[in-house]
Amino acid sequence: MSQGKAVIFCAPSGAGKTTIVKELVQRIPELRFSISATTRSPREGEVNGQDYYFLTLDQFSQKRSDEELFEWQEVYQGTFYGTLTSEVERIWQSGNHVIFDIDVVGGVNLKKKLGNRALAIFVNAESVEVLKERLTKRNTETPASLAKRMGKAVQEMAYEPNFDYTLINRVLEDAVDEAERIVKEFLK
Ligand code: 5GP
Repeated sequence: MSQGKAVIFCAPSGAGKTTIVKELVQRIPELRFSISATTRSPREGEVNGQDYYFLTLDQFSQKRSDEELFEWQEVYQGTFYGTLTSEVERIWQSGNHVIFDIDVVGGVNLKKKLGNRALAIFVNAESVEVLKERLTKRNTETPASLAKRMGKAVQEMAYEPNFDYTLINRVLEDAVDEAERIVKEFLK
């Protein structure tokens, strides 16, 4: 693999990580988003090959057995997410750096694998209550999936010490500016 670096963004659901990652990709041209594979269905407005590669369970299992995944997790019971090795190689070979928006356990594994080549950032909200409020407003969750995501968020917060940096997302614009500063410093 060529000499690119990796920036890993992880967070409990609702902390605003995806918005920050999307904004960083706009602001830092040499940073390219790693499009993951997932077995979940697309949300409204999501595009295959842009937000995710949406796969069936069989297709995902095939990629796993063909060892085409750099890392993968069953993030929610029965729902799989994974980083394609080809995606990371393509980005590095084009002379760019890769940015990951992945779950906390996957992020810790990637950091272990990549060491100093990666900067792992944990995005958090001020409190669990704020997280819940944001997820409710997002309106993409049913009561059952909201409860599932909140349970997971509490578990995920325990992984924070494994990260290089914690970014508290109080005001989105400030959090993006702070993220831009840290990431640019790392890529220098
Ligand atoms: P969502 O369904 O909200 O898009 O994503 C759910 C969780 O899966 C998020 O924490 C997201 O970052 C994570 N995720 C997305 N892609 C990957 C991946 O390739 N690997 C892992 N481990 N987690 C991922």
